[in-house]
Amino acid sequence: MSRIAVIGSGYVGLVSGACLADFGNHVMCVDNNEGKIEALKKGIIPIFEPGLDDVVARNASAGRLSFSTDLGAAVRGSEVVFIAVGTPPADDGSADLRYVEAVARAVAGAMDGYRVIVDKSTVPVGTARKVRGWIAEELARRGAGIGFDVVSNPEFLREGSAVLDFTHPDRVVIGAESERARSAMKDVYRALYLGETPFIETELETAEMIKYASNAFLAVKITFINEVANLCERVGANVQDVARAMGKDGRIGAKFLHPGPGYGGSCFPKDTQAMARTGRDHGEALSIVETTIEANERQKARMVDKIENGLGGKGSLKGKTIAVLGLAFKPNTDDMRDAPAIAICEGLAARGAGIRAWDPEAMKEAAWRLADIKANLEFAKDEYDAMTGADALVLVTEWNQFRTLDFGRVKGLLKAPVFFDLRNVYKRPDVEAAGFRYFGVGQ
Ligand code: NAD
Repeated sequence: MSRIAVIGSGYVGLVSGACLADFGNHVMCVDNNEGKIEALKKGIIPIFEPGLDDVVARNASAGRLSFSTDLGAAVRGSEVVFIAVGTPPADDGSADLRYVEAVARAVAGAMDGYRVIVDKSTVPVGTARKVRGWIAEELARRGAGIGFDVVSNPEFLREGSAVLDFTHPDRVVIGAESERARSAMKDVYRALYLGETPFIETELETAEMIKYASNAFLAVKITFINEVANLCERVGANVQDVARAMGKDGRIGAKFLHPGPGYGGSCFPKDTQAMARTGRDHGEALSIVETTIEANERQKARMVDKIENGLGGKGSLKGKTIAVLGLAFKPNTDDMRDAPAIAICEGLAARGAGIRAWDPEAMKEAAWRLADIKANLEFAKDEYDAMTGADALVLVTEWNQFRTLDFGRVKGLLKAPVFFDLRNVYKRPDVEAAGFRYFGVGQ
């Protein structure tokens, strides 16, 4: 059992903290957002993440998980301190490390003895050494001769299945420089260490690189199949069959071969940018990653063109009402950071369309993330309300409940039976048989 402080209680901090408590550790989750901590103390989970409420409730009532705004107390009461604050993109695409630096310095200000400080946030190669420098600087300023280690332990969880991913990871990566730190991390992850989970122990820079290389590779894979889909549209091939056949090749694998409106979310867009930036800074341009970033932007814009073309070409969106289903960047989350739905809704609005949008979980997020187009936007009560009186239906995020639409009812509600299925959820013949004009991606 380890005593752990997790600083930053967002998607990653809260899931990590709750699951580490579930492994038997004693965890205090800290955030400087008082509202968030007050809510968590009352058992209210500020994000939508399946299963998280149970893990939090179970461990809070067992006394293994607590919440606080008091970083100092959390650091003094722990052996291992996780930094899990945000690392959003700065204007130049690099990762903005100001929150990480603030926390590292605050941790050093509170340390009263040896600690292991763990970078859980996704941070560019070289950051662990910077964290070590910031901590050393603060300790020197205090005149405190206290030992510490910095560890890089990147997180690979996916929103929407975060609890499962954290508790059943494909691998745990630990970048460390001392046996003492490695052994502390083994204690933290003892529940996994005793099982089948592969542990990959590296030096700091390698651990940091693993995270960026993994995310960038996945973004490249998505973008590759998106470009193949676009070509399929030109040459009359069906990307669904292409992807299925490709995926059967064990060297390729079936995952992340789903064409769509482009990747979004809190990780791929910013991590690809940050990695590309690191490459440029070191004179080793990552041309595939650079191209992926551009192609992904084009893919989102292409969806707006697709809808306009489907409705009659240039100018045809003016005055039309478009029903948009799904706003979160993927199903099972309320996260809309860099969601393709934002670019698509903004693009539709810029061409004069009105939008009736609905998402099962992201409506609160959408209210402020789509504030720029609020003159063109109405929020619906559910999927069928969104389509009522609309000129076309656009499925942007493939929530399960959108997989079984009642097309008879849909047809009765829409002004015209036109369906843009940007996730290829449906089969063309089925939708056409129901009397619709159907537009997928790459088919
Ligand atoms: P988030 O924005 O949801 O959470 C960050 C939290 O840190 C917020 O609650 C914020 O209030 C808090 N915070 C900021 N400064 C603080 C301070 N000085 N003291 C205490 N709390 C502070 O971000 P997230 O999605 O959890 O991402 C965190 C990191 O994890 C990022 O680097 C991200 O790239 C990485 N990551 C995210 C995911 C994901 O799926 N979201 C997956 C893997 C890795």
